[in-house]
Amino acid sequence: MEDKLQALKVRLGEISDLRKSASLLGWDQQTYMPPGGAAARAEQLATLQKTSHDWFTADEVGELLEALSSESAGWDYDMDEAALVRVTARDYEKARKVPSQLVAEFARVTALAYEAWNRARAQSNFSLFEPHLEKVVDLNVRLAEALGYEDHIYDPLLDQFEPEMKTARLATIFENLKTELLPFVQAISERTGAVDDSALHRTFEEQKQWGFGVQVIKDFGFDFDRGRQDKSVHPFTTSFSIGDVRLTTRVDPNYLPSALFGTLHECGHGLYEQGINSSLERTGLDDGASLGVHESQSRLWENLVGRSREFWSHYFPRLRQVFPDQLNDLDVETFYRAVNRVEPSFIRVEADEVTYNLHILLRFELENEMLEGKVKIADLPEAWNAKMQTYLGVVPPDDARGVLQDIHWSGGTLGYFPTYSLGNLISVQFFDKARVDIPSLPDQIAAGRFDELLSWLRENIHRYGRKYTPVELVKRVTGNDLTASNYVAYIKAKFSDIYGL
Ligand code: ZN
Repeated sequence: MEDKLQALKVRLGEISDLRKSASLLGWDQQTYMPPGGAAARAEQLATLQKTSHDWFTADEVGELLEALSSESAGWDYDMDEAALVRVTARDYEKARKVPSQLVAEFARVTALAYEAWNRARAQSNFSLFEPHLEKVVDLNVRLAEALGYEDHIYDPLLDQFEPEMKTARLATIFENLKTELLPFVQAISERTGAVDDSALHRTFEEQKQWGFGVQVIKDFGFDFDRGRQDKSVHPFTTSFSIGDVRLTTRVDPNYLPSALFGTLHECGHGLYEQGINSSLERTGLDDGASLGVHESQSRLWENLVGRSREFWSHYFPRLRQVFPDQLNDLDVETFYRAVNRVEPSFIRVEADEVTYNLHILLRFELENEMLEGKVKIADLPEAWNAKMQTYLGVVPPDDARGVLQDIHWSGGTLGYFPTYSLGNLISVQFFDKARVDIPSLPDQIAAGRFDELLSWLRENIHRYGRKYTPVELVKRVTGNDLTASNYVAYIKAKFSDIYGL
């Protein structure tokens, strides 16, 4: 049995090397690669991805897993080895269900869809993207059929990113958010004059913005001996090992929050990656429990820490020293309110904490309607705008700022968006528990001290990697199931205070 376990680990280690090499090529593509490298890089990435998929889905892996699965039934559930067999068997079963012909078709369709989406968005012309989106939806229907489902066609697509989450469960959570948040957004909309954020739109030197962000994430505990930060058009985090975690950010000289909160957000992802137990390295379990749980870590540092009054009581005087000309006429309370301004807007990635989940709700509903054939692709812009009117009270002036704004569909992905909302909900559930376990947490944050919070996250979440499903992890950490109620209570308390409601 030891031999079989060892053989499985060797194979998974090699597959991990291929995948991490692909990540390195992807990171380079988005940071330093000159445009002339694009065509060859696409081939290199495709080869690595195909090879790692083939190696992972090989019969030999299945035989090892089968032999180990019966044996491991008696092992302690929390053992690394038990988790390795359990989680790998689940991944294997899913990967084997997808015919390689379908994988190849996804690659072909999305390569063209991405180009078409880029052009369509630049010209704000949905009809250029429409035939490609038809194909993407069709491929996803076939993928869902291949993976199989009992209740809902959306289930297997969602499960790729959020294991064990079900559409019906998610619909209930979103319904809850809708009931609670719609009237709240409406009430805030009537008081938009209560918060002035014009100071954030002054000119802030890029290098100084970069330096301030780096200082804060060093204080958070991001280890620059085991990671680095570079610039990219779209901020992201990736890792090549637990000892090499890469963050990227972008800097807008005319809008302070862009780099600042982008940096804190990606740092939250990076701290998770740096905190995984080294015993899981090169096993495939050295990643976040799910996209939702990963996002809970970025949102926790960005919003629950980085947009709190305690945080700014410590950092605002420091920020004002860096930018005296821009900020000397402001006090900390005005600044705190400015970085928490709520405004229903067109663009998801720029949305505030209150309206953000409504952008996701809209996409969740439309993705379901597309898969079920309840909305024609040609009618999607109208359907989008109608929901924007209902949920946010604003209608985008063109499709570039409406239905064409996000990259995800052009990449072939349906079922991904809800993980952003789940991340928001889980971040508050985790933080609420951390506050119970660390009574002086607000004082520590106000003193610029984050070591105890980071240790708590490492102990309870980070070190486990993918050992537990998101459902198991939330239950283990908080004692409760995933719920919207912590999030709703947090939002109402914080923003009633800011807007005097
Ligand atoms: Zn994120």
